Amino acid sequence: MVRETISPKKHGLFHKVTIKLTFLHLILFATASLIVFLLIYFSLASTLRARVDESLLGDVREYETLLTAKGIDRLKKEFISESKANGSGSEFYILLSPEHHILVSSDLNPWKGVNLNPKFIENLQEGEEIIKTCPRSGNEHKVRVIYKKVRGGFYLQVGNSLRDNDEILEKVGEIFGYGFLAMLAMGALLGWLVSRHAMSGVERVTETATHIDRGDLNRRVPIGKEGQEIEDLARSFNNMLDRIQILVTDLEEVTNSIAHDLRSPLTRIRGIAESALSTEKNADAYQEMAGVVIEECDQLLGMINTMLTIAQTDSGLSCFSKTPLDIRDILRETVELFQPAAEDMGIAMRVQLSEHPLTVRGDKTALKRVVANLLDNAIKFSKNGGRIKTTTALYDTKVMIEISDTGMGIEEKDLPHIFDRFYRGDKSRSDPGNGLGLSLALAIIRAHGGEITVSSTSGEGSTFRIHLPRKSGSSL
Ligand code: ADP
Repeated sequence: MVRETISPKKHGLFHKVTIKLTFLHLILFATASLIVFLLIYFSLASTLRARVDESLLGDVREYETLLTAKGIDRLKKEFISESKANGSGSEFYILLSPEHHILVSSDLNPWKGVNLNPKFIENLQEGEEIIKTCPRSGNEHKVRVIYKKVRGGFYLQVGNSLRDNDEILEKVGEIFGYGFLAMLAMGALLGWLVSRHAMSGVERVTETATHIDRGDLNRRVPIGKEGQEIEDLARSFNNMLDRIQILVTDLEEVTNSIAHDLRSPLTRIRGIAESALSTEKNADAYQEMAGVVIEECDQLLGMINTMLTIAQTDSGLSCFSKTPLDIRDILRETVELFQPAAEDMGIAMRVQLSEHPLTVRGDKTALKRVVANLLDNAIKFSKNGGRIKTTTALYDTKVMIEISDTGMGIEEKDLPHIFDRFYRGDKSRSDPGNGLGLSLALAIIRAHGGEITVSSTSGEGSTFRIHLPRKSGSSL
């Protein structure tokens, strides 16, 4: 078998879940902050442009009114005073003749290089306006220009430099750039902290597994506070270890018991064979010896088969046929089988069964074996005389079988162990048996989803109770 060892250096750094999670966080943070940044940037850019457009519209309408009411000269004065007030580099104003010649304008010197495409006004109808962004050669800041055809075929043009907008957006971009870097650093740090915190539970499990691998089966994973999933993992791991430890201890006990229980019959068989070899005997004596050997072998085989059945039942490998059956039939048939043995020992057997069907889903042969084991024990440990009572009860979801006897009872110190494999009470050592009957009964009942319990007073008798799940849908 190839054993894999846990080595932190086996794979590169990027194979570590912590690093992978950190990168994942980083990518998520980067993508999320980039999306947010782009959304804010573009919505800010469009808001700023809308404000410029609004101001241009206001201006052009004001000048149209002025032109209509006060004429060109008044408009020219207004252009000059406005240009002075706002700065000649920040806005320009032009009035074009119907033939597209400049009639009046503010100082256009700072606006050289602005590409005022004449095509824009070609198709304008009177009263109609159009706003365009025009490039400016030799200057990185574009110009937003409004064109309006006014009464008399004149054209009003008002231009506004987008320099202020560009500067605001540039500043915002710069802030976001730093913000983005800070977010990346935070994302990486947070991702690392979160994944380290979460993975520390897994590391504890690995650490415990490593100790167990080295032979310390008593180690358990300390339960931390990383979160439900990690706590569940640690708990499940610990439960699994508890179960493994129980199985290992069981295995040791069973191995010891097998060694002990096999040794006696094997020693006896060997003794018989040795005696057959050493002294000459007549044919009858040899036949008797062979009979004893067969009997001992049968007992051994029976014990081995029972052990196998228990192991298979416990591990869930037994294929029980789960068919609907009435427990009363099983009890009647089994009690009938044991009646002669009980009578021989002067034991009174009483059966008191429910009037209603006690339907469960189960394997008839296996359940009969359980009842047989309990009745066999009740007779065996009642010595001569006494009473054995078999009763039943029906609950909403359960069926109960009770087998009680007035026999020798079980000592308090033996009670917690009587369902253990090969366990036999001190008082019953001299009786026939191998200590597997109750273990098999327990395994079968558990495999049927039920429970078996015992209450007993030494010297007065014992009561075994079985609870089995009632077949759903069966009525009273
Ligand atoms: P076995 O009967 O072969 O000894 P079991 O597993 O059937 O093995 O029973 C285990 C032990 O439990 C018995 O050895 C006995 O000490 C005790 N026991 C079981 N049933 C009874 C009973 N009805 N009355 C008294 N003791 C009992």
